Amino acid sequence: MHCPHCEKQVSVFSKTLNRGGGTMTCPHCGGKIRLEIDKKLALLWFIPAVLLALVLKPLLGSWCSAPGIAVMVLLSAKLKPA
Ligand SMILES: [Zn+2]
Repeated sequence: MHCPHCEKQVSVFSKTLNRGGGTMTCPHCGGKIRLEIDKKLALLWFIPAVLLALVLKPLLGSWCSAPGIAVMVLLSAKLKPA
């Protein structure tokens, strides 16, 4: 994902973004950003996520929906200026 202020790559898993709460700070430019889930995109990825869960069910059991949901959230999340 890219910072909406400086366009530099910002890792979703970086400490900066995982501090919790609403607004976050870009580690490159210090600009305030927030993570927003695009509901349309999330809806678009919902079907593949369900299919992935069905494929993974024999392997992961009750955890089968976790990877699909994680992918769905990651693909539909966008960084917006706060
Ligand atoms: Zn930035």
